[in-house]
Amino acid sequence: MRPRNINLSMVVPIDIMGVTKLQNVPIAKLKIVKLVDQIKPVTELTCPKCGAVPKHYEGYDCGGTMPNGEPCGAKYGHWSHLKKIVKATGEWIKAERLIAEKEEIHAHLWKMKREDFAQYTDGTANEYGVTVSDEMGALNLKKLLIASQMLDYVIIVTYNDTFQQTISLLTASEANTVILREILPLNLAEVRETLKVKFGGLTERDIEEAKAFVNRLPEATEEQLIVHDYRTIGIEERKVVSEKVQDLTTILEKIKVEAK
Ligand SMILES: [Zn+2]
Repeated sequence: MRPRNINLSMVVPIDIMGVTKLQNVPIAKLKIVKLVDQIKPVTELTCPKCGAVPKHYEGYDCGGTMPNGEPCGAKYGHWSHLKKIVKATGEWIKAERLIAEKEEIHAHLWKMKREDFAQYTDGTANEYGVTVSDEMGALNLKKLLIASQMLDYVIIVTYNDTFQQTISLLTASEANTVILREILPLNLAEVRETLKVKFGGLTERDIEEAKAFVNRLPEATEEQLIVHDYRTIGIEERKVVSEKVQDLTTILEKIKVEAK
């Protein structure tokens, strides 16, 4: 997907003097915009010896000058051997380790009322599924998900990864998969103008109108979740493996049986 304009419409059967015809009914003109972009400084890769910007062929050849006036002539095989600096200030962008080599990661749990969280934009950086193997873990996870789905809390998980601090939301996807959705940190996110919706103060009439509207939509089947474009070339047709997906309740029952 990329930013562009789309016309949202639905195809509905319309009865014209006893003859049923399919008609395209316009619903809305949408402008697709990227939710957030990560703010990054303009950087340069420089020679750690002399500070010049090496020429890049297959590797990097430095044509800079050493402080003693001699040509540097250093060669580097990979960009990671170069020193990344902020172009404007020369400041070294050095990724410091936040955890030790084999340190166990301790993540912290937080809650925020959904209405308070709504003032921020939560652009996704990455999305991951999670698994849990012990009963206590499964039970606690279930409580947290109930809090997020039913009690209007946003459950926030923060921890230090090797070089980056991660912020994610523990939640369930539209397919009820338990996910950790890593969001872009507030101070690194360039927010675009997007749309927000508030579900408070709905009237009986609002709900009735929504019901009538959605009743006119055709039912989706698996076909709507499948693409037929160039990306499918060379890929063997395969069924979605559902045994891989575990249900939290099933895990809890399985653990109970094993414990007996
Ligand atoms: Zn150099």
